[in-house]
Amino acid sequence: MGNKTFAIIKPDAVKNGYTGKIYDRILQADFKILSAKLMKMTKAQAEGFYEVHKERPFYEELTTFMSSGPCMVLALEKDNAVSAWRETIGATNPDEAAEGTIRKDFATNLGENAVHGSDSDENAQKEIGFFFTESELIANQ
Ligand code: GDP
Repeated sequence: MGNKTFAIIKPDAVKNGYTGKIYDRILQADFKILSAKLMKMTKAQAEGFYEVHKERPFYEELTTFMSSGPCMVLALEKDNAVSAWRETIGATNPDEAAEGTIRKDFATNLGENAVHGSDSDENAQKEIGFFFTESELIANQ
């Protein structure tokens, strides 16, 4: 099991003023923040990041949403980081997310669901590399 995962505080959560609250949940769940930055994705970046969903009917809506405003991208470290973070954020659909999870508490709806979390160690590596250079993973230096 790997010890890194990639997270995004999505544009709905930033716009709704939840960045600080979600950042605090990350720390409360004992993740070490290797790096974090506030950015606004271009449409092309969002399309590249979600390329695996290219054939899905919601791809256009998703990539438009993800490039609609500022978001915060984060590289996180903890034992079993991928599954620990997926547990902290809850189910994709906030209506199905467990009590106390980030999506339960802060998501807007299925599409605008407050946070992203990698679904495998392999994707975590790829996704961290999509947004951060090695030298930006500050806590490793
Ligand atoms: P995740 O791994 O829990 O983020 O879920 P998925 O990989 O299945 O989907 C990626 C993202 O696409 C989700 O987090 C949602 O933002 C979005 N998404 C998933 N299903 C739908 C849908 O039916 N409609 C819309 N608009 N967005 C969706």
